[in-house]
Amino acid sequence: MKIIDIVKGEKPSLSFEVFPPKTSDKFEIVQAATEKIASLKPSFMSVTYGAGGGTSEYTLSIAKDIQDNYGVPALAHLTCVNSTKEEVKARLEMLKKSGIENILALRGDITPENRDREKWDYHYANQLVEEIKASYEFCVGGACYPECHPESIHQKEDIANLKRKIDAGCEFLTTQMFFDNNVLYNFMYKIREAGITVPIVAGIMPVTNAKQIKRSCELSNCSLPQRFKTILDRYGDNPEAMKQAGIAYATDQIIDLFANGINAVHVYSMNKPDVAEKIQANISEIIK
Ligand code: FAD
Repeated sequence: MKIIDIVKGEKPSLSFEVFPPKTSDKFEIVQAATEKIASLKPSFMSVTYGAGGGTSEYTLSIAKDIQDNYGVPALAHLTCVNSTKEEVKARLEMLKKSGIENILALRGDITPENRDREKWDYHYANQLVEEIKASYEFCVGGACYPECHPESIHQKEDIANLKRKIDAGCEFLTTQMFFDNNVLYNFMYKIREAGITVPIVAGIMPVTNAKQIKRSCELSNCSLPQRFKTILDRYGDNPEAMKQAGIAYATDQIIDLFANGINAVHVYSMNKPDVAEKIQANISEIIK
């Protein structure tokens, strides 16, 4: 099933994300967690892709497992940084052959290892979107950043670049995590004004580890509202309390999003079936 047909509708959708293991010895643990999340029958599940090889081999097998054995539509992430056109083509052929219908087309992060831009076949995600759409039937989504991508000098420029991705054929956008829904509502206003009308899938991160989130927010240009910082300060050193508070905060955000007409929510469930299950249970009547 094409994800655009799930997220464009009036019915609220709830989806989860998993990430493949970095090493083969962890594969079975990740597979077990993935299968538990898939058995919750979310609207769809996404599987991330390691930009520099490593975990990338597992993206396909996990996505195929979710789809074939649990009947849950899979969204396979694909990055293009550091890849040649031939490598990308080979991967697209494998995805097609495996029955995967949906791709989240990404550039991938610039790291010290892949900084040598001269050698790249792809510089931005819009090039990958264009290439996929030129030769394949995949439903293609992309990423967007309600608080601006860290490489963009200002949001106007970032939104103009986002429009290129849409013009290349990107059918929906999944957001970077955010902890204040007003950030998303402001962003929605700006992108609609810029002529971007595709469905927006709101990315929500239930925070279960205070230290980790502070670091990843610094890297990803994501602000923490005072209400949330207070929770981190109070419960950050108590993992079980932090998990409970993180799930409650995420639930609160999700209910507010649905109430305000954002019909698609994607939970960064981080391979944690208990977190996915609790969030789903908290809104079971809302997504019925
Ligand atoms: P782009 O859309 O190419 O944008 C990157 C920057 O370049 C932005 O500043 C943009 O404004 C600018 N830009 C874009 N197009 C142009 C253009 N034509 N000309 C000039 N400037 C331009 N990373 C992974 O490695 N694996 C994953 O599975 C993964 N999943 C993700 C899922 C989501 C929902 C999100 C939000 C991010 C994910 N990432 C993942 C991280 C992502 O790869 C990084 O954020 C990366 O830095 C940007 O990727 P992008 O596809 O948004 O890039």
